Amino acid sequence: MRKTAVYKHPLFLAHHTGKDHLEAAERLCCIYQELEREEIASRLFFPVFKKATTTSIKLNHTPEHVREVAATATHPASYLDADTRTSADSYEAALYAAGAVIDGINRLELKEIDNAFCLVRPPGHHAERNQSMGFCLFNNVAIGANWAVRKLGLERIMIIDWDLHHGNGTQKSFYRNDKVLYCSTHQYPFYPGSGALPESGEGRGRGYTVNIPLAGMAGDDEYARIFNELYVPLARAYQPQLILVSCGFDIMASEPLGSMQVTPAGVAYMTRVTLELAQELCDGKLLITLEGGYNLDNMRNGSLAVLTELHGAPLANYHPVYLTQQDVERFRSTTVESASLDQAMHWVKNWWNI
Ligand SMILES: [Zn+2]
Repeated sequence: MRKTAVYKHPLFLAHHTGKDHLEAAERLCCIYQELEREEIASRLFFPVFKKATTTSIKLNHTPEHVREVAATATHPASYLDADTRTSADSYEAALYAAGAVIDGINRLELKEIDNAFCLVRPPGHHAERNQSMGFCLFNNVAIGANWAVRKLGLERIMIIDWDLHHGNGTQKSFYRNDKVLYCSTHQYPFYPGSGALPESGEGRGRGYTVNIPLAGMAGDDEYARIFNELYVPLARAYQPQLILVSCGFDIMASEPLGSMQVTPAGVAYMTRVTLELAQELCDGKLLITLEGGYNLDNMRNGSLAVLTELHGAPLANYHPVYLTQQDVERFRSTTVESASLDQAMHWVKNWWNI
């Protein structure tokens, strides 16, 4: 079995966004409750970690932006954009969320752990260098990738963003950079509006942003096909030294913000293929960090499916088998057709000559 680090912290539950806000602490509470069961806790590793310093946050964000978020501390309620609300502890929570990703990357590089899942709030992938947006204060995955490049000297990091929404913040952070290959599948056109197929990077970063805009209603087979036919050859061509995932469970069925139809088996399969790529290409170094997902059943089942794959065995005998052998055989050979998917894959394969 693999040593899977799980990052959780009480402050991630203390970031309050106001009554009836979708991005609520309950999203994590339902997973944390599972993780407290002895049978599960004993199979996972829960590192003690520090919050990120403002110097680390500034690897990805402007000093003005850090000041703006810091100024919300101790205030019961502030708005950083129309739907990004903070509470007294939100700034601290955001520092710990970025700190979790940095700590996980450090431990992967030191081979102290095999892989990691950061179950954090607030999420990050919409946060741009100079502004918070879309429930995100600081861009956790982008801070982590910057840390790996600028502090640890890595030269090729692959970010797979399977959240329902396009990670505009992450894309912008690395748009002119070939040291980070940013790959996003997302419902399109949709919030935040970016992520069209031709957005593929500029300058040295040309080709290192890969957007797969999808029509709604895509499910396990569409996602399986993207991983099989695109991400596997793309990763082999790029040869990442570390793989990071922006994981959103808002691609699952019955989500309030989207219309994708992915099941826990589909989430498990995407995790499995990504982990196999990491094992083949970069000593298994894979860190997954939470972005969206608003249906509590999806948060719980999706997280357990991810953790089961990362760990390599069921976490508890009362959990279902999330991915059966039959599922794997079906997903590996899927030929599901989709016009938007075909167009995107053709474009990317041509560019990368894969
Ligand atoms: Zn999302």
